[in-house]
Amino acid sequence: MALLIQNGEIVTDAGRQVADVHCEDEQITRIGRDLAVPPGTTVIDATGKYVFPGFVDPHVHVYLPFAGTQTRDTYETASRAALLGGTTCFIDFVNPERDQEPLECLETWNARSRGKSACDFTYHMTVSRFDAGIESQLREVVARGITSFKIYLAYKGIVGLENSELEPVLRLARELGVIVPTHCENAEMIDQRQRELIAEGKTGPEWHYWSRPPVVEADGVRRLMMCAERTGAHVYVVHTTCREALAEAEAGRQRGVDVHVETCIQHLLLDKSYAERPGFEGAKYVMSPPLRDKADQDALWAGLREGRVNTVATDHAPTNFEGQKSMGKGDFTKIPGGVPGIEHRVPLLFSRGVGQNRLSLEQFVRIASTEPARLFGLYPRKGTIAIGSDADLVVFDPDRETTLSAKTHAMNVDYNAYEGWTVKGWPKTVTVRGQLAVHDGEFVGEMGRGEFIAREPICV
Ligand SMILES: [Zn+2]
Repeated sequence: MALLIQNGEIVTDAGRQVADVHCEDEQITRIGRDLAVPPGTTVIDATGKYVFPGFVDPHVHVYLPFAGTQTRDTYETASRAALLGGTTCFIDFVNPERDQEPLECLETWNARSRGKSACDFTYHMTVSRFDAGIESQLREVVARGITSFKIYLAYKGIVGLENSELEPVLRLARELGVIVPTHCENAEMIDQRQRELIAEGKTGPEWHYWSRPPVVEADGVRRLMMCAERTGAHVYVVHTTCREALAEAEAGRQRGVDVHVETCIQHLLLDKSYAERPGFEGAKYVMSPPLRDKADQDALWAGLREGRVNTVATDHAPTNFEGQKSMGKGDFTKIPGGVPGIEHRVPLLFSRGVGQNRLSLEQFVRIASTEPARLFGLYPRKGTIAIGSDADLVVFDPDRETTLSAKTHAMNVDYNAYEGWTVKGWPKTVTVRGQLAVHDGEFVGEMGRGEFIAREPICV
């Protein structure tokens, strides 16, 4: 099966050119002007359109059990939504709680994902406890191609590591050559603030922010930097939201820590006033760390331009407003955190980033595709347009205007954090390893075609 994408402007993190892309047997086989069209080739005219490498979302929760319920998506609904928005590969988290076993959990996730996704995917493995038994399981996890360990400094007793376990986990990660995505917040500071606020009767969603102000996040990043410095581990700060946290990561980097920084699309575009909306509406915007200020957004955009912030993810966590977010009525500490975003990260980043002159086209590709692929061992199979790379491609119409709404989105969740926003620029055609998954903006993909991608350690 051959596919030819003709006459589009091909954009990678390194530059652009108008050319054709020829794909065969799931891979890109030729790039050049006026390529021949062998009989039986499917031809897509990309004149006046961009051709981007498939986008990679490095931080997604498709299946996540919590507090007796779970996130709403399945691999079918999440992969369909991802593809409609131009994301052709995502990284979910296998998330064992402290009393659960990593390998058992991996089987649970496999039962939900294998044979059910329309796009490729892989996992991070959460490490929520550390002892000899866990260590041997983690070695097996890496042998099975999961080469990143997620750790939480918050949520102690559930998924968070104890302080005494941090360095042993980082040392093992260093030895195995795996990178460590880390949720950086000081658990004890959060506990104390939550207790005080609730005792004062400050129970609405607008108080969530005040239980986790910037100092709580910055303190977590500082601790991670110290542990990474002592162990030599390669670390990745997930969902960075504020200037204080960014400054701590940069201080670590200047001391030689191998640290990479992620932010999420919501932290670039939404500020804390959303979580202050009346009538419990703010609960839609409760996440941890919380939405911050406009000045923080400016700092994150500047960091992206200057390469100090490496990636833009979503932390996609779809929980319904009715029935799930509502569990926290009368007590903000019981509101499930997170926003849905997997479908609209790419159009939002293009529209508000490239479209508003905050990012160049090459920077946009780098932070939403190439860097996530590179940092997590998917590159050059994913994250670029090159001969031999997977033919995961996005033909993107820079002029199409679309209004985002829960009424029309594909994500299996009852609200959209960007309800009523209009974006300019939208994926027209999306391919997964050479096969059409979206055509003229409609999903035409195949459930079960998406594969688990086993990864090699890269930090050796
Ligand atoms: Zn997350």
